[in-house]
Amino acid sequence: MSETEATMLVARSTTECHLYMVLHPCERCGEADFPWSRHDRGRDDTSVYEGECPSCRAPRRFAFALAPDPVPPPAYGGPEPSQIIDPGEFLAMGERAAQHAAVPPDASPYRRAGAREAAADAVAAVEEVLKFLPPSAETVPEAAFTSAAGRELYAADPARFHRDRLEAELQAHRQALLALSRG
Ligand SMILES: [Zn+2]
Repeated sequence: MSETEATMLVARSTTECHLYMVLHPCERCGEADFPWSRHDRGRDDTSVYEGECPSCRAPRRFAFALAPDPVPPPAYGGPEPSQIIDPGEFLAMGERAAQHAAVPPDASPYRRAGAREAAADAVAAVEEVLKFLPPSAETVPEAAFTSAAGRELYAADPARFHRDRLEAELQAHRQALLALSRG
């Protein structure tokens, strides 16, 4: 079996590659930071990141197969759901981003700019969760949860993945983004 068949991760965009690497800390020591020292963009749309874990020096490597028409940042992908990041991971990411987006009204312009970026990430994350909903379904199917973190989140509160809840959350994140974009 070639590497493409065996271990390639199919990514829809470079942004998705980067998020996947953030979500997969060092297997040896748990360090999340991975300042790769080598990035090869192959001819056949492969994208390989290699380097050392900054904490334990373990060699690390991620090999992605990029979709034929990768979308530009900050989008993670087109209308199709991710194949490598599950809806639970996206929802958790969106919540972390929403926390960073919450700043007091008198925050400095620098903090507001950071908050605006985080609010945009929160919107994108919930949009990604919604892509896992089949058109007529009211909730994300359990089979969509493929990561341990995602399955745990789903088991804790499956109702969070109902269409109504997700759409309300998306609306709230969009309002927050709008408020930060004004003045
Ligand atoms: Zn490590």
